[in-house]
Amino acid sequence: MPAKFILIGSGLAGGLLAAYLGRRGYDVDLYERRGDPREGNIVGGRSINLAVSTRGIHALEQIGMAEEILRHAISMRGRMIHDKSGQLHFSPYDVDPTKSINSIGRAALNTTVIEAAQRYPNVRVHFNHKCIDVDLDSAVAHLETVNGQVTARGDAVIGVDGAFSSVRQSMQLHIDGFEYDESYLAHGYKELTIPPGPDGSWQMEKNALHIWPRKSFMMIALPNPDGSFTCTLFWEFEGPRSFATTKTDDDVRRFFDEEFPDAVPLMPRLLEDFRQNPTGSLVTIRCAPWYYRDKVCLLGDAAHAVVPFYGQGMNAAFEDCVVLDERLEKFQNNRERAFAEYFSRRKENADALADLAIGNFIEMRDKTTSRTFRAKKKIDHALEALLPGIYLPLYTMVTFTRIPYAEAARRARLQDRIVYGGFICVPALLIAALLFRWMAH
Ligand SMILES: Cc1cc2nc3c(=O)[nH]c(=O)nc-3n(C[C@H](O)[C@H](O)[C@H](O)COP(=O)(O)OP(=O)(O)OC[C@H]3O[C@@H](n4cnc5c(N)ncnc54)[C@H](O)[C@@H]3O)c2cc1C
Repeated sequence: MPAKFILIGSGLAGGLLAAYLGRRGYDVDLYERRGDPREGNIVGGRSINLAVSTRGIHALEQIGMAEEILRHAISMRGRMIHDKSGQLHFSPYDVDPTKSINSIGRAALNTTVIEAAQRYPNVRVHFNHKCIDVDLDSAVAHLETVNGQVTARGDAVIGVDGAFSSVRQSMQLHIDGFEYDESYLAHGYKELTIPPGPDGSWQMEKNALHIWPRKSFMMIALPNPDGSFTCTLFWEFEGPRSFATTKTDDDVRRFFDEEFPDAVPLMPRLLEDFRQNPTGSLVTIRCAPWYYRDKVCLLGDAAHAVVPFYGQGMNAAFEDCVVLDERLEKFQNNRERAFAEYFSRRKENADALADLAIGNFIEMRDKTTSRTFRAKKKIDHALEALLPGIYLPLYTMVTFTRIPYAEAARRARLQDRIVYGGFICVPALLIAALLFRWMAH
């Protein structure tokens, strides 16, 4: 008899993992605390759209879903930087102009992955079931429903229930020595909207990710298929100018007029959006191990939530699905080994991504305005064109390849040492050579 998996959480990774496991012929019960997203229960307070790139697309391709999902995506070929005077600077993501990241709607993607899973008759999805505890040794999940508590029994429980995972909490409570670390940024985020123009078209460049970098904070905007943009303001929670001190409509208007003057005329609902939309927090979660015997496993944000500045959280969660699926195939008769190998392959990379994501926040909000940053991007692209396959900028490796995140980070550090070390050494050597010649005369 095929093994039975209980999956907790039908977010982005939960739906995709259910499809992967369903394809392998496993019996799958997927439990989600919210209602069916097809009935309008859209994930509240979280990003309305996200950027999917090579790793995520690869995972979707493996299950034949990439085309369907990319049909509705909007490609973003680079960063459009808005300075305070309203001047625009476009910086392509890669030397190859066809390389782009893709803006997709979270709700549509979530629905598509759930529907893909439901095509397998051995996958069942149960909405409005909130997991409250997991009995690790027996792989039993306890769930709350409107009609009272129910239990779900399987051969293994997989926690795909996001950054505040209940499955992980059960592991924390019951596994001796379980490592757990959470760290919050001092910044929160708020989503705002630029609606479509009167003719339904985009009011700014459509094929770009827009950034208003303002040193300690920033706003970004991603295009949506209906002609609108979803803007996200990343700003300090506390401080003299922060979410905490910006209380009245006048405060909001003054702040936006000062910082984002070119965006304000495009945001007729700014004050309502600012008042009504929640302020989200940004957390990095690291934990270990991600599994307990052959009974419980964690995947996606439940195992490794990262801040969103590299646009990789979902991409990494999708990559987890590919790796776990491969390991389950390789060790069909030893699920514990499959879980253990999945964990050892992914952990170092998830940790590397967490660091990269925080580093990219500083780059996006502060460095993108500087001439040095733009010059470095140009040098990066020139070297990439000159040394194809040998020199790969970090952003390219993370976004447009499937080189493991930790290896990409190591390779980028080495490249930087060689190239930028060279910039210092070559002139120094030339000066030394000139001095020797001068002294010899
Ligand atoms: C502002 C922002 C922007 C982002 N932008 C990007 C981007 O551009 N690109 C990118 O790759 N990533 C991005 N991310 C990250 C991405 O959203 C996450 O990495 C991704 O959603 C993780 O998928 P998941 O399935 O692991 O978790 P989630 O998508 O959070 O899904 C978890 C699911 O579990 C359910 N659940 C939770 N608790 C329980 C319970 N007790 N019982 C039952 N069900 C439960 C939830 O309702 C939810 O449906 C962004 C994140 C944020 C906050």
